[in-house]
Amino acid sequence: MKYDYLIVGAGFFGAVFAHEATRKGKKCLCVDRRDHIGGNCYTRRMEGIDVHQYGAHIFHTSDRRIWDYVGQFATFNNFINAPIANYHGEIYNMPFNMNTFSRLWGISTPQEAKAIIDSQKGAVTEPKNLEEQAISLVGRDIYEKLVKGYTEKQWGRSCTELPAFIIRRLPVRFTYNNNYFTDRYQGIPQEGYTAIFEKLLEGVDVRLGCDYLEHREELRAMAEEVIYTGPIDRYFDYCYGPLQFRSLRFETEVLDMENYQGNAVVNYTDRETPYTRIIEHKHFNFGTQPKTVVTREYPADWKPGDEPYYTVNDEKNNALYRQYAALAEKEAGITFGGRLGEYQYYDIDKVIASALGLAEKKL
Ligand code: FAD
Repeated sequence: MKYDYLIVGAGFFGAVFAHEATRKGKKCLCVDRRDHIGGNCYTRRMEGIDVHQYGAHIFHTSDRRIWDYVGQFATFNNFINAPIANYHGEIYNMPFNMNTFSRLWGISTPQEAKAIIDSQKGAVTEPKNLEEQAISLVGRDIYEKLVKGYTEKQWGRSCTELPAFIIRRLPVRFTYNNNYFTDRYQGIPQEGYTAIFEKLLEGVDVRLGCDYLEHREELRAMAEEVIYTGPIDRYFDYCYGPLQFRSLRFETEVLDMENYQGNAVVNYTDRETPYTRIIEHKHFNFGTQPKTVVTREYPADWKPGDEPYYTVNDEKNNALYRQYAALAEKEAGITFGGRLGEYQYYDIDKVIASALGLAEKKL
């Protein structure tokens, strides 16, 4: 056997585990079916701009240990995520805060804003659907302009047909603070995410364009143990049926202008605009390049074979996942990890923490 570990997937989970194992003197082979490293955090440089190929990725954490860990591989800038909502050309700050309320109602104090929201919430105690739930949380105006169209596009269904539990809370702030995240640390790697993966994978053998499941026997025979970060249902040939995802479609274009929309993230909250947001990548890094690159993000239904983005962690899918997880426990010499292997939405910091946890346990 040539390798101690065969790592399937060169995203954060796989790359962090591979790095830690290599540091401890283990020999690792990392394979990815894509033609690049970085998993969904991959950035591609276009016109001198780091383009987030699989959706905008903003690193944020309150965990000092993880912040210091990623700091070994990159210098993070001081980007603060402060998205803008565009509703038929009206511009509002996100998350919903005093700037939003002032623009909506021409008011200036938290007391005035609270009074308006309370008067619009209605008396629903047991919301029957997402619309009732959202109105009971933020009132009718915010729901109509900033929640309804966006959510309907995202789920491909009307809010009255969507279950209430999808929105448990809608963050409402009675301060003039546009910072979307509340974490202690936040930023974008100055050289792009891909540069982090190049460093993490130093000393690791990497094979790209290589699907583990298509070369399972040959690859399995090459290593003592496997760390698998691909979809768990696909590993077991969908024997209990596929786990559901929501997908996205991205349209990226280079524009011959310096500044298209003045912000990294602009959400389109009306129902008529077919995309949910436009990302202008240079603003993640305060870029001054002569051109700009923008990506329109379209929500999409998902079927097996499509790129899986968001897990759908409802009761049915979670129960299905538990069936697969039980099979996984019986599989010798393989550990499932990461967002696809564990079928859950994981922010980057949590995925890194999880991979470090596994490394501590195994190495
Ligand atoms: P991935 O990055 O998906 O890596 C898994 C890799 O395994 C992939 O490269 C895949 O090609 C490979 N693979 C799968 N099957 C096989 C196989 N059979 N053979 C070989 N290779 C295989 N988190 C944040 O903290 N901040 C954000 O702003 C943020 N934005 C997000 C936006 C979107 C649209 C999405 C979907 C997620 C976002 N996340 C964000 C979450 C972040 O993307 C994940 O935390 C991270 O990518 C998970 O890393 P991973 O290694 O588990 O999975």
